[in-house]
Amino acid sequence: MSHVVTRFAPSPTGHLHIGGARTAIFCWLLARHYGGRFHLRIEDTDLLRSKQEYTDSILASMRWLGLDWDGDLTYQTQRADVYSRYVDKLLETGHAYWCDCTPEEVEAMREEARQKGLKPRYNGRCRTRELGPGVGRCVRLKTPLTGKVVFDDMVKGRISVDVSELDDMVLRRADGMPTYNMAVVVDDYEMGITHVIRGDDHVSNTPRQILIYEALGLPVPRFGHVPMILGPDKQKLSKRHGARAVIEYQQDGLLPQALVNYLVRLGWSHGNQELFTRDELIEYFDGNNLNPASAAFDPAKLEWCNAHYMREMLLSDLARLVAPFVQQVGLGDLGQERLEALCLMFRERANNLKALAESFRPLVLPAAELVHAEKDAKKHFTDQGKEHLRKLSAVFAACESFDADTVDSALNAYVADNGLKFKEVAPPLRTALMGFMGGSHLKDIMAFLGREETLERLKRVTG
Ligand code: GLU
Repeated sequence: MSHVVTRFAPSPTGHLHIGGARTAIFCWLLARHYGGRFHLRIEDTDLLRSKQEYTDSILASMRWLGLDWDGDLTYQTQRADVYSRYVDKLLETGHAYWCDCTPEEVEAMREEARQKGLKPRYNGRCRTRELGPGVGRCVRLKTPLTGKVVFDDMVKGRISVDVSELDDMVLRRADGMPTYNMAVVVDDYEMGITHVIRGDDHVSNTPRQILIYEALGLPVPRFGHVPMILGPDKQKLSKRHGARAVIEYQQDGLLPQALVNYLVRLGWSHGNQELFTRDELIEYFDGNNLNPASAAFDPAKLEWCNAHYMREMLLSDLARLVAPFVQQVGLGDLGQERLEALCLMFRERANNLKALAESFRPLVLPAAELVHAEKDAKKHFTDQGKEHLRKLSAVFAACESFDADTVDSALNAYVADNGLKFKEVAPPLRTALMGFMGGSHLKDIMAFLGREETLERLKRVTG
């Protein structure tokens, strides 16, 4: 394909959620794969629910995810005149007509159809009345009376809808505002969109939009309707199961590359590959292999994916990214060097940046504030355990320097020289240093703490 133009068209009535984010990722990838363009259009015609703060938030999430867009943003509210021109064109060519039926009358027609067991619909009363403009009049499309609308969906395959299912839809409301379908067609045409990828909640709009393209004599783009993301229980995705805003995942300390990687796999595949670099995604995402079945959201897999990227990234980058979370959990500004040392010790043990920051706490607190887990203290601070700690204090005090290798040798020598087993000595030492039976390698913990702080922690136990 030589020329691919896609767009993401969010309504700014809330933050960007993961379903929308996945759609945006698909659109972005398709454009980047073919070296085309990706546009962003803000569908803000719902004046009551649209808010600038949501537009700002959606843009921030797009940037955070690394989904850059081409050209300027388009706001639908700024384009009412453009839509109107196209409606006028349809009136001139006889593809549309004025209608003065009141909402009550239209509702009565719909009710009548319902009574007859038919789909509720407008009955075409004004179609042949040749009305002109007037107060309270809307404009409707003169839908062909027979035939089918057929299109090959990129995800769902061939879709065919009989026009008898579609009534003469309103194109421009009595207040002069275009309807959603009208505006979308005009925008997609004017923006040169070749591929419309969106959620399948819009699939019933597509035949209507195709009728508008045809009435205007415009080329019809390709459509792809991606199925909803379901919860782990295969029900509608609930808040509890991850139906959350991208910004919430960001605040929880997820990495954008993990979220992108995870979401792209929810509905698209490339063999069995699970982890992709961004370049690989761009290389492989050609619009094929989009799964028509709904995928279930799996929080554990997302965490796994995130853990992978946390382990893989440059230590210096991880330290920079975790810094705000360290501040947020109340551990202050530790400086890049100490953060890197902590990340090295704990990054294998945390699945997100927030948990990583939290795992630093025992090592960052002053000795006096360290809390000993009751169970571990009881088990390991026995008379014998304390005796080891007392002797180790002397050993560590005598170390020439306090780097990881030196303290490690000193500890090993203590164990060997006294005919002990490591597991007799390590648990009380670990509990004294960390407050619980967890953490990283003892030598790294001690090197990080330094001699003074290490001895201080031992003293708190030995008294
Ligand atoms: N504004 C619509 C939405 O947020 C998207 C419509 C489209 O992609 O055509 O659901």
